[in-house]
Amino acid sequence: MRVVVLGGAGFLGSHLCGTLLAAGDEVVCIDNLSTGRRTNTTPFLGRPGFEFVHADIAAGPLCVRGAVDAVANLASPASPPDYHRMPLETLAAGSRGTEHALQLAAQHGARFLLASTSEVYGDPDVHPQPEDYWGNVNSVGPRSVYDEAKRYAEAVTMAYRRQFGDDVGIVRIFNTYGPGMRPEDGRVVTSFITQALNGDPLTIYGDGSQTRSFCYVDDLVRGLVAMLTSTETGPLNLGNPVEWTVLELARIVLEVTGSTSPLEFHPLPQDDPTRRRPDIGRARRLLGWQPEISAHEGLRRTVEWFRARPAEVAAAAPS
Ligand code: NAD
Ligand code: UDP
Repeated sequence: MRVVVLGGAGFLGSHLCGTLLAAGDEVVCIDNLSTGRRTNTTPFLGRPGFEFVHADIAAGPLCVRGAVDAVANLASPASPPDYHRMPLETLAAGSRGTEHALQLAAQHGARFLLASTSEVYGDPDVHPQPEDYWGNVNSVGPRSVYDEAKRYAEAVTMAYRRQFGDDVGIVRIFNTYGPGMRPEDGRVVTSFITQALNGDPLTIYGDGSQTRSFCYVDDLVRGLVAMLTSTETGPLNLGNPVEWTVLELARIVLEVTGSTSPLEFHPLPQDDPTRRRPDIGRARRLLGWQPEISAHEGLRRTVEWFRARPAEVAAAAPS
């Protein structure tokens, strides 16, 4: 296959590029490096079949020369501090950017994969969340720039399918972590690991009773590839159904790192979802997919990766 990976210099996108290249596929990575890092693609540069294009998918129509078999759209800020910092860019990436991505796929008769999110469920009043739950999103709250952009991205993807019969797939990704995340990205797993390794207090928002379900990146990317090569439309949830409170996560990070950092409590951000856990029955049934790496093992591997980068971890400490 020749796959265009939009957002391929980001955390998940670069893992997807690496997995596809390892399987013998060709990859065109398009990224504006707003939250991604050029270094994430360094291992692929010079490899036959890999091409990097610096471009903003929201700026205008996308053009790729040669055959394209699939377009995977992962281009969007994803960490809450990132999308709060770039609210309009986040809306543009999810809306205009997704339309340009769909047009690119249509021009080539390629399959289109949308990386949507569990955030489309907002602060869910159905638990765990199945795909036929419509969600509980505050359309004017601070998180809406991300949630509503992704909800629009899903809507326009389905409109292309209904109106033009395009081959599309939608996955709703739940909190995923692993090597390759920016130490300063502000997401809870990276924050806790860098704080623990720096001996700084672990910053718990609220009382830490809110829950999340954390999936290791290798499992998630296996799900992305399964969806990319299937004919399913979805939406399909991809995530690890093991659910932890934020406080439990903090204690496990302290255990895995061997750190004695104290816990420090901060106000809960507005509209922070109180619980989140995927129902992955559909992905199991339709893709034969389920996570295989335990959260403890995934955290251990992630901590080792951060430990091997002490300068970057130290630079993420509050000044
Ligand atoms: P990330 O911030 O590491 O990667 C996003 C990438 O998209 C970056 O390389 C960034 O530079 C690029 N990008 C952003 N806007 C762009 C634009 N307008 N044009 C071109 N490139 C652009 O985030 P991630 O965790 O790798 O997330 C990747 C995708 O998966 C996102 O769409 C995100 O919404 C989705 N997702 C991720 C998670 C998760 O837990 N990691 C959960 C749910 C959904
Ligand atoms: N969180 C926290 N401390 C931090 C960062 C995040 O307690 O330093 C909490 C946050 O309030 C949320 C959960 O951890 O309840 C997950 O946050 P993250 O930003 O990783 O992802 P979200 O699922 O909110 O998009």
